[in-house]
Amino acid sequence: SSLPAPYNEHVDTHEPGSPARARLAEALATLSKEVAEIPVVAGPAELRTGSILEVTMPHRRRHVIARAHEAGAKETQAAIDAALAVAPAWAETPFEERAAIFLRAADLLSGPWRARISAACMLGQSKTAHQSEIDAVAEMADFFRWNVHFYAELQKHQPVSPKGMWNRLEMRPLEGFVFAVTPFNFLAIAANLPCAPILGGNVCVWKPATSSLLGCWHVLEMLREAGLPDGVLTLVPGHGPTQSEVALASPHLAAIHFTGSTGTFKHLWKGVAANLDRYRTFPRLVGETGGKDFIVAHPSADPIAVATAISRGGYEYQGQKCSAASRIYVPRSLWPTVRDRVVSDLASMKMGDVADFSNFVGAVIDDRAFARIRGYQELARQSATILAGGGASDAEGWFVQPTLVQVEDPKHRLMSEEIFGPVVTCFVYDDAKWSDTLELVDGTSPYALTGAVFARDSIALAEADVALRNAAGNFYVNDKPTGAVVGQQPFGGARASGTNDKAGSMFNLVRWISPRTVKETF
Ligand code: GLU
Repeated sequence: SSLPAPYNEHVDTHEPGSPARARLAEALATLSKEVAEIPVVAGPAELRTGSILEVTMPHRRRHVIARAHEAGAKETQAAIDAALAVAPAWAETPFEERAAIFLRAADLLSGPWRARISAACMLGQSKTAHQSEIDAVAEMADFFRWNVHFYAELQKHQPVSPKGMWNRLEMRPLEGFVFAVTPFNFLAIAANLPCAPILGGNVCVWKPATSSLLGCWHVLEMLREAGLPDGVLTLVPGHGPTQSEVALASPHLAAIHFTGSTGTFKHLWKGVAANLDRYRTFPRLVGETGGKDFIVAHPSADPIAVATAISRGGYEYQGQKCSAASRIYVPRSLWPTVRDRVVSDLASMKMGDVADFSNFVGAVIDDRAFARIRGYQELARQSATILAGGGASDAEGWFVQPTLVQVEDPKHRLMSEEIFGPVVTCFVYDDAKWSDTLELVDGTSPYALTGAVFARDSIALAEADVALRNAAGNFYVNDKPTGAVVGQQPFGGARASGTNDKAGSMFNLVRWISPRTVKETF
């Protein structure tokens, strides 16, 4: 094929004195002085409702960086209508043309838009330069490039044609619109949820998490520059209930592409069920939801590697990755080494404004997250042992200290409930109880997103492989459970963690195709 081969975007390290760092610092300074005005985008029309949502920096919580016009019922309907109006033309647009737009977007992102989008993600979502680089730049560009590759591959999946006939599968998009409800924690995911279906010829109505609106707005502007026609992607800023009610009541809802909490996804699913008789077609529901991701170490494991996996997998981006290591099982023989190393790692993690490149920890996303995570710190104070951290301050921003907790009861709520913040809980087990521990890992939380096993003993690894087969959709052997790379580790989990339609792979993209089989006889 004439398509360029997909590859993973290079990750800039922003060394002091490097041009990349200078560009990023300049973009941060510029964006900090602006207040973006974000309208409802309904085709070429930009609607200003005057019902204003203020977006602030999590680490400087009084500093407004964007003002978005919230979409009411009328504007949400206008956004749906605008998308449906261009749906036939977009579906007829040759795949190569659609692909070219996303390949161009990937090049814009890795070139002229790189610093600006990364800065928007840093300021809006309180990501450090590195966390923003691997998300808003590298992973987003990877999604765009790899989706093109995977769709091209999917189109080759054709039936056989015996003599006298031509059988073929026409890879039609779904009929109607896709409702993309996207999370704050990854700008790449926020972009991919609408863009994966769009590349396949679908139109999308996009409802981003309000705290990610600054970054999402930049993504939309970049996609326009890349040539995405008006209406193919419409934007409905808002807190959710109004926009979802209107979208779910539409007879033309064809699918929901969701990443966010398990509770919200269930709520949307029930909404679809309640409206089922209205729809022209059965909506497809694709969701990646919560996690309570584990690290389990065998006595044969390298304790320093385990500690590093906890420090990075548990605390990067303040533990706000669905994949974050959250419950840890360590054998008593390794525990002193693991504990002391994590405690010393935590002591060296600087927390503060993400525009200061020396900080490793930014703020958590908002007041609700702050209150929820503090609640878990309080629970730890009352019924567990806090080994490091435990504090929080909202004086400047929503700052929560990286916190390490030890529990005596392996079924403690801190070992089963999703916290979505920088609180990691450890259970220390007797070295002789490896298989009991594997049972605990499998049976303690309703989630099954990511997990990691550490061992040097290959029999132990094989036992974990079998015992934990359904405990994680992304299973890591001797590595931290975060940081899946598009094209390398397709991402998603089952149980309460979602529909496991593996983001960044063909398994996801097939959900946006409604094939027509054509048999032509001659
Ligand atoms: N794909 C990300 C990772 O592997 C996590 C995605 C999420 O938090 O939703 O770390």
